[in-house]
Amino acid sequence: MKDIPNGFTGFKNMEPDFRYYKSGDTPGAEVPFDPEKLQAIASRDRRWSWVEVDLGAIRHNVMEVKRRLKPGTKLMAVVKADAYGHGAVECAKAALTSGAETLGVATVDEGIELRQAGITAPILIFGEPPLQAIPLLLQYRITPSVYTPDFAIAYAEVADAHGMKAPYHLAINTGMNRIGVRYDEVVSFMSRIAFHRALEHTGTFTHFATSDCEETLDFQIQFRHFVDALTAMHEAGLDLGIVHCANSAAILRYPNTHFDMVRLGISLYGFHPCPQTVGTIDLQPAMSVHARITDVRSVPMSEGVSYGMHYRSPGSVKICTLPLGYADGFMRCLSGRVDVLLEGQRCHQVGNICMDQCMFEVDQRLRANRPRLDPKIGDEVVIIGRQGENQITIDEHAEIGGTIQHEVAIGFSHRMPRYWV
Ligand SMILES: *Cc1c(COP(=O)(O)O)cnc(C)c1O
Repeated sequence: MKDIPNGFTGFKNMEPDFRYYKSGDTPGAEVPFDPEKLQAIASRDRRWSWVEVDLGAIRHNVMEVKRRLKPGTKLMAVVKADAYGHGAVECAKAALTSGAETLGVATVDEGIELRQAGITAPILIFGEPPLQAIPLLLQYRITPSVYTPDFAIAYAEVADAHGMKAPYHLAINTGMNRIGVRYDEVVSFMSRIAFHRALEHTGTFTHFATSDCEETLDFQIQFRHFVDALTAMHEAGLDLGIVHCANSAAILRYPNTHFDMVRLGISLYGFHPCPQTVGTIDLQPAMSVHARITDVRSVPMSEGVSYGMHYRSPGSVKICTLPLGYADGFMRCLSGRVDVLLEGQRCHQVGNICMDQCMFEVDQRLRANRPRLDPKIGDEVVIIGRQGENQITIDEHAEIGGTIQHEVAIGFSHRMPRYWV
């Protein structure tokens, strides 16, 4: 390099010392690595953050709930939204081998994914998909929820044209006001669609808005409306098929809601739907979130860390970096408000959580009651889960973030690899 002149004008006259691709080149074409070997570099060696799902916990939770059901009551494993971020196919299989008989999904594609994985159990979709998707329902034997005459008739017509039956579950709106035929209109609704010979009414259900709430009056009213609707249908001589209404909270709190089947969602994954169920059942959280330290530094007192520098070093700390951020579901609103586990000890996450990385603080002051930690690049850190004596739960993130466990668990599913153990 030439001497830097007084009026330094930058590096514009320097030859770039790196190779770059001209247009027309195929990136990677001349790279001297065997493509198969590149392919074989495991995802755990590509980025140091991952999610583990304990299928033994899923099986345990199914069996714990199953024990609380009367013999003959079916258990539906709700595996919508990729099994609340836990992996739909793996969790569905684990649930079906430990006591679940049927599966619940939210979209046509979620149902197809299960069928393509070889799953043959009945699948119910919680809603009416667009009419254009009807052939997919029939082809993949995904049972829709029905609540409009237009959908019911279109569904029946397509089935009939192919010599098939059109099974469905009737969705009743008992007060949540999301989907369903209003509870006091079910008999007239049925009389509008029942003429169609292909339609097969195989189930009747509703969904509770407040089964997880402390206050129970709204729940009692919804339940009463459901029973009234069932009674009216029965008196009109209609077959109800499989009757179901209980989600996790209702399953655990109100056994009189079990009927012929229960729909187990959040508690399948090991979470309590509300404080009232804690202590009434042993649930094991299936999901844990892990990362390895990618950088460690001592930050002198009063220097800031991360965007905005809202955290200032108090001195005597090491700041460690982890390769996960809010794009991985580590919610930015938790910045500076949660802990992570290193060697079984809680350490404060500090500074704003970035999109792809975050930092935490390791106290270097000597304390009588705890050994001084010596963090190193590559050390494993637990963001959610157990390490040694300590545990950080999704409930903790949900509570601090002002949301429910469902949203936190689903958030962790996107970019990090998942391992089923
Ligand atoms: C999501 C869902 C469930 C499962 O609810 P949890 O509270 O997670 O147990 C059950 N039924 C319907 C209709 C749902 O949409």
